[in-house]
Amino acid sequence: MKTKRLQTDVVVVGGGMAGVCAAIAAARCGVQVVLVHDRPVLGGNSSSEVRMHICGADCSGNRNNTDSRETGILEELRLEDAVHNPQRSASMWDLLLYDKVRSEANITLLLNTYCRGVRMLAPDRIASVLASCPLTETEYIISAKVFVDCSGDGRLGAEAGAQFRTGREGRQEYGESLAPPRPDEKKLGSTILFITRKHDHPIPFVAPRWIVRFPSCQQLPHRSHNSWEYGYWWVEYGGEMDTIADGDRIRDQLLAFALGVWDHIKNSGSHPQSANWALEWIGFLPGKRESRRFIGEYVLNQRDVQQGEVFEDGVAYGGWPIDLHPPEGILSKEPPAEQIDVPLYNIPLRCLYSRNIRNLFFAGRNISATHVAFGSTRVMGTCSVVGQAAGTAAALCIQERVTPAELKQHISLLQQMLLKADAYIIGVTNSDPYDLARSAEVAASSEIPEGRVTNILYGKRRGVDTATNRWISDPTKGFPQWVELRFSREVRLREVHLVFDTGLHRPLTLTHSDSYHSRMIRGAQPETIRDYDLQLVHGRDALTIASVRNNYQRFCRHRFPAHTASALRLVVHATNGDPSARVFEIRAYETEQSV
Ligand SMILES: Cc1cc2nc3c(=O)[nH]c(=O)nc-3n(C[C@H](O)[C@H](O)[C@H](O)COP(=O)(O)OP(=O)(O)OC[C@H]3O[C@@H](n4cnc5c(N)ncnc54)[C@H](O)[C@@H]3O)c2cc1C
Repeated sequence: MKTKRLQTDVVVVGGGMAGVCAAIAAARCGVQVVLVHDRPVLGGNSSSEVRMHICGADCSGNRNNTDSRETGILEELRLEDAVHNPQRSASMWDLLLYDKVRSEANITLLLNTYCRGVRMLAPDRIASVLASCPLTETEYIISAKVFVDCSGDGRLGAEAGAQFRTGREGRQEYGESLAPPRPDEKKLGSTILFITRKHDHPIPFVAPRWIVRFPSCQQLPHRSHNSWEYGYWWVEYGGEMDTIADGDRIRDQLLAFALGVWDHIKNSGSHPQSANWALEWIGFLPGKRESRRFIGEYVLNQRDVQQGEVFEDGVAYGGWPIDLHPPEGILSKEPPAEQIDVPLYNIPLRCLYSRNIRNLFFAGRNISATHVAFGSTRVMGTCSVVGQAAGTAAALCIQERVTPAELKQHISLLQQMLLKADAYIIGVTNSDPYDLARSAEVAASSEIPEGRVTNILYGKRRGVDTATNRWISDPTKGFPQWVELRFSREVRLREVHLVFDTGLHRPLTLTHSDSYHSRMIRGAQPETIRDYDLQLVHGRDALTIASVRNNYQRFCRHRFPAHTASALRLVVHATNGDPSARVFEIRAYETEQSV
């Protein structure tokens, strides 16, 4: 083995959705990042190796009182995927994540490389990550100022001695009615998924002899298996074992269960219509739901989640139901999940850094939450926005030369940085002092009563309850439509941010489930502005500084050489289908200074 020493600002360990978003967020804030990931493809449980679809606070589109789909980096990825991967290829999703990470100049990506230890600067401070890449026979010593554990299992933090918890808290500990009476070591189990395809002729399935047999549907109580294209999340096992140390045994047993269920469908005689269906892919890497949860300065619990707690130091949000499963998994005769709806809630910064290691953040399923609260925070949409928050916070620590705990003094700055990068935090709106749009007057070619043009100045960027919080042009007037920001003085603009409508009320994610997929639009979202010009108005002149065609993104940022202007005009020529132009926010900057 040869040894390579790397020096960076931030090390992110684990390239699941939390790690990808953390690394991209930190890199876009201008700091150097090394992302250490032990698999050949990024995405964790969403990757082609596991193929779980990303869910989040919108409860798969079932929360209809507010726009709750995650924005920021995840929305950028989902929109990109919807447009360029209409075929729903799992490998295209891998490629997209790889491309996005590789395109960030500030990220050094180490694939097939696992974090196996740390060197400490002091008992409470990490100096470097020790990582190995067996394929290149390389040992890495990666020194950094701040570390972010997005490994799911929390290997980095555990090596550093960060306090963590496993299993379920007792009911008294946090006053949680959904917790068991006494603490135990039971967890949510792991799952192996499979994908099948219908052919035009019968294809038999000969099962290996080691499968677990389910001769009739009675052996699979409460476990619906009437659609066959996309395996079953309830093929769950290992919740009563050590989900890290017993990983190999859990995998072997899960293969026996998953293939046993397919054998039941194909060969039990209960599902004769499955004759033309055949197995296309089966996972060999179990999707792991639960192992370590770190202890932060605060532990998110059932009450916070159920009451929709907002927290002054909120940096991300969740909203998936508290989704707990029997630890016995597929062996349980009970229903495979109990889901308790929750309102949207914020996740505080204090849940994202270690109580006892001074330069360690974490993001993803390992954040500081009780087992019950984790039942909601664990979905990948929430892991992604938590990742973006942790990555941004790590970068801010570098810029301000503070520890994660000291970042509380800069919480408003952190929140504004997140909003500026299109994240959402409940109750926090744009107060960026450098944004000239906030003090501008606004006018539009047309508007409808529920979509007044003044909405674009309030910095809310999504519909909340009945408030649309967006400009909607009159659909009977056709295109072009325009909106104009008029400044009270001459300004020298150099940057403009536009936030468009991408139908946040609809689910949007890569899924291999046909019924879930049928509720989405695979392609550009019809509400989104497709063709537009951005003009700087000075006296009678209008200078077009950007002319965009075929847009499908929500958050569009334009940087250009500084120009004098008295007004900024967005001229909309077409949407991707909607008869109205729709805009949530326009920001205008004349300085490179930034929140
Ligand atoms: C079967 C199943 C069904 C689920 N259903 C859904 C669902 O429908 N929707 C949803 O959103 N969520 C679902 N979840 C939950 C969700 O998948 C996880 O909670 C989520 O993936 C956690 O994200 P993460 O980024 O924290 O971790 P992960 O996705 O686990 O990613 C962490 C990554 O870190 C890597 N890693 C680990 N150790 C190291 C190391 N030492 N060095 C380097 N890299 C390392 C791992 O290989 C992994 O890829 C499900 C989970 C399972 C298992």
